[in-house]
Amino acid sequence: MQAYTDSADVIHFIGGKTERGVGDRTQPVFNPATGAIARRLVLGELADVNAAVASAKAAFPEWRDTPPIRRARIMLRFLELMNQRKDELAAIIVAEHGKVFSDAQGEVARGIDVIEFAAGIPQLLKGDYTEQVSRGMDNWTVRQPLGVVAGITPFNFPCMVPCWMFPVALAAGCTFVLKPSERDPSASLFMAALLKEAGLPDGVFNVVQGDKVVVDALLEHRDVKAVSFVGSTPIANYIYETGARHGKRVQALGGAKNHMVVMPDADIEQTVDALIGAGYGSAGERCMAISVAVLVGDVADKIVPRLAERARKLVVKNGMEPDAEMGPIVTRQALERIEGYVATGIEEGATLVVDGRGLKVPGHENGFFTGGTLFDHVTPEMRIYREEIFGPVLSCVRVKDFAEAVQLINDHEFGNGVACFTRDGNVAREFGRQIEVGMVGINVPIPVPMAWQGFGGWKRSLFGDMHAYGEEGVRFYTKQKSIMQRWPESTEKGAEFSMPVAK
Ligand code: NAD
Repeated sequence: MQAYTDSADVIHFIGGKTERGVGDRTQPVFNPATGAIARRLVLGELADVNAAVASAKAAFPEWRDTPPIRRARIMLRFLELMNQRKDELAAIIVAEHGKVFSDAQGEVARGIDVIEFAAGIPQLLKGDYTEQVSRGMDNWTVRQPLGVVAGITPFNFPCMVPCWMFPVALAAGCTFVLKPSERDPSASLFMAALLKEAGLPDGVFNVVQGDKVVVDALLEHRDVKAVSFVGSTPIANYIYETGARHGKRVQALGGAKNHMVVMPDADIEQTVDALIGAGYGSAGERCMAISVAVLVGDVADKIVPRLAERARKLVVKNGMEPDAEMGPIVTRQALERIEGYVATGIEEGATLVVDGRGLKVPGHENGFFTGGTLFDHVTPEMRIYREEIFGPVLSCVRVKDFAEAVQLINDHEFGNGVACFTRDGNVAREFGRQIEVGMVGINVPIPVPMAWQGFGGWKRSLFGDMHAYGEEGVRFYTKQKSIMQRWPESTEKGAEFSMPVAK
């Protein structure tokens, strides 16, 4: 493949070809399972952003004028190629992120869902039309693409999160500049090469690797009309404010602290399975991971011992090994941050039920591994409750009843995902109604909405008005235009000085 090769430096993709760019700053990309440097990332500079935006701007008029069904056909070819190559892409993700292979396959599959959705763009772009708004006059609306748009994405889903953005933007007629995470940048180049192979014209999709330098250049660039961001809350806040100040449309999805309420009538086995998978899957490095179990009434004494037993038995190893349940943490710094939070939890007085710190995986002694950690008797004042740990640390909070559970969650600054496990339909209904969180699961631990529904949290988990992908995604990358028309033959003569009304 032209854009992605296994051992070369990771560089940019501009105007349909790989580019080393102007900069000489580089940074290592690690294989987290071994701790070894796998390749080097070339960090972009202002001139690289300018080149990518210029290329996207030049490609825009022709791409905008390409009929939506033709854009959709390129998406369908891309979809086919992604399906053919999905396991290769999953292996690239494992090698840089560390998640287990089956989980990486799942991530790719959820990204592919959005490509499939985007292929329906002719239907999604249909406007509306009102005949005879006044005598001899019609009015209709169309949605037109914004122009050059940018995506800035996090490390934890190097395929799926970019796919929340660019397939919808491209299908809608925008051209795109992606700034992937520095931790696992190779998936972006793999997808760029497949887009080219699918027939996407040069310049329509570009990738600039890098850090804050690239992000700031995109935020300030006058030719970038909109920015989609996914990452941590402080950066999401910064992106939203800075982008808005520069006149851009911004959607900035931030961090999370997702709770799962367990009612006393919940199915215990199903609940324990759900908490283990959602708490420790992908080493807790999912924005929809469950990090707090809210145990209602007497259910805690039934759940905590079973959780502890399962957390101790988690199979933690290189994500490419078929029986691995949890892989390493993405970087050594992230590992230290997570283990630091475990120490904080102990100092704050939470009960450490299972301590995952210091785990060594035989044959992978330099890998960034930690085991699953379980805390009980966590309270709302503790930092381990308030802050996003983003690792395999599950905190149990005990509450007396449903109302206290709802209040606890509604008081939290984040509002990304939430779940409630119960057999009571009325509790489920009230939970869905009262909870101040964007994505709700009833007996579903990780309620990531499907490609046509749209993804987004509430409160400090999302800055901006529109959710990612789904119909909101289409609206985000397009602007509405209203056209009124009449023709000389149907026009009444004479100037009108009052506000026109239907006649
Ligand atoms: P991050 O905020 O560190 O980085 C995200 C992106 O921002 C990266 O491309 C990075 O290069 C860039 N960036 C980092 N610091 C910057 C700065 N100072 N100025 C400008 N740009 C900067 O996030 P991460 O560690 O890559 O990802 C994990 C975070 O993402 C977690 O907080 C997680 O909850 C969140 N996340 C949220 C969602 C969601 O849908 N809400 C989805 C996935 C991840």
